[in-house]
Order: sequence, then C-alpha cells, then structure tokens
Amino acid sequence: MWNASELSLQLPTRRSSDLLLQPFWDYLVFQHYPLVSSPFFPVVLSFASYFLFSLPFAVIDLLGENLPAFHHYKIQGNRRPTVHMMMRSLGMAVYNHLVFVLPTVIINNVFMPPAPLPPMAPTLWELFSGGLGTLLIFDTQYFIWHMAHHKNPHLYKWVHAIHHEYYSPFSWSTQHLSAMELMAVGFWSNLDPLMLTIHPLTTWVLIVFSIWLSVEDHIGYDLPFSLHHLVPFGLFGGAPAHDMHHQKPATNFAPFFSHWDRLCGTESHLEKKTDKLGESEKNTKDKLHAM
Ligand SMILES: [Zn+2]
Ligand SMILES: [Zn+2]
Repeated sequence: MWNASELSLQLPTRRSSDLLLQPFWDYLVFQHYPLVSSPFFPVVLSFASYFLFSLPFAVIDLLGENLPAFHHYKIQGNRRPTVHMMMRSLGMAVYNHLVFVLPTVIINNVFMPPAPLPPMAPTLWELFSGGLGTLLIFDTQYFIWHMAHHKNPHLYKWVHAIHHEYYSPFSWSTQHLSAMELMAVGFWSNLDPLMLTIHPLTTWVLIVFSIWLSVEDHIGYDLPFSLHHLVPFGLFGGAPAHDMHHQKPATNFAPFFSHWDRLCGTESHLEKKTDKLGESEKNTKDKLHAM
C-alpha cells in the first residue's frame, strides 16, 4: 500500500491540463485501494455494468405498449421477451461468471498477479486514444471470430448457436452466451489492454463503455439518442445493425463499428416494419399458409 510521501516523490512534472483525471484517480487509489487493486475488480465492474444497464430495458420491455414513448422505437414490435426468457439469460450469465470466469481469475492471479497501480492518472488524450485503439482491435478480433463461427457449422453448433436462440434480442440476452464465447471475449478484453499498455483507469472506463455498447446492441429499440445516431457517417452499428444480425445471421458480424461489414460486403440495414407484425414475419406467415 502506498503512502502520500512516497507518491509525492514519484510524481513527474505535467501540464495542469494533463492532470484533470488526477483527483479522481487519487480518490480511487487512496479511498478504495482494496477494491480497485483486487484482481476481481474488472469482473465485478463488468457484471455490475451488464446488470445495471440491462435492468431499465427489462422494465421497459415488461411495460410494453403501456410505455408508448419507448414502444414506438421497438425494432420488432410484435415480439416481446417473457419474464422466463429474461430469467434464463440472466441466470446463464450468473452461472458462467461463477463457474468459469471467477475460477479463471483466481488461477490467472496465481500465475500472473496484476501489476501495482501507477501513481499518475492518464491524461484525457491517453484515455481517449487508448480506449478507442483497444475498442478497434477488439472489434476486429470479434468480427473475425464471429464470422468464423457462422461459417463453420461445428463451431456454430458448439460455441455460438446458443446466442442465436432468440430471433429478437433483449437487454439480458447480451450475455446469453456459451461459456466458450464468454471466455473468448474475456481473453481479448484482458489481453488487448496489456498489449497496448493502457492505463488501468482507461481499461475500467473501457469495460463500462463496451458493456454499454453490447447491451445497446441487444436492447431491441432504435432510440433516437443512441450512440449510432450521435456518431456521424454510420460508424457505429448499434441496435439496428445487431438486431438485423439476429434476424439475418449471415450479416453484421462486427460488434460495435460498421467498417468491417462494409468492407467485407456483409452489412445489412434495418428493414422498416410497415405494419404491426412486420413485413418479414408477415411474408413468412403468408408462405406458411400457402403451403
Ligand atoms: Zn447478439
Ligand atoms: Zn452471431
């Protein structure tokens, strides 16, 4: 554990604009050292983010048409998750974390204990550039992994199919994943910050932000204030892109950005529903009736 006199000797000279995050970093390190230095902290942060971001959308789903301000933006308006579906996805996430993730963290901590926390906070530029760089690398890794698991029937069946149990995603289904998929995602999430040697604060901000992006991908609502509407040129796919992946699984493999699907010709756009049932579902029903 540090003390203040040790820290004052270690602080290099920086511009005052570089030190905007220093008070917050000092607060975390001096007031919450046992928590933030724990090897379990990133897992707790990740699961808490998943839970807290998903919960409001579960309430919105359950209220359905009684909440027209949100229901208006539902992508597949005729499909609504049941409480049973929600509990199943949440239960799967809890099970995977308790049985696979936590033991992995314990083993990893034995062989590779986390490095001591640095005394200096990152600058805002370091936080932004490190976060964006890591997000772009993860997006590329998952795009390749995801496409491979859709192209190979064995990989799809044993690893990824479980995530496609639901044609219409909902917030809790973000982590409706096989243990293998969750571990692959966790592996990159740990490796990428180490490769880029980004600051621990950048890693923690990135964990919360990437979980938000993942939950937003699955909420099933094309909300006007979503990130993909705020970021220009359609750089972010958001909920419409990932909803289309669940409807047309051979398209939109990237988790966050849209450039890889554009370059590889696998991009698909949200099909506007023109009636209550939605054209694609109506067409399917018409075909079934015609058989
Ligand atoms: Zn999904
Ligand atoms: Zn998929």
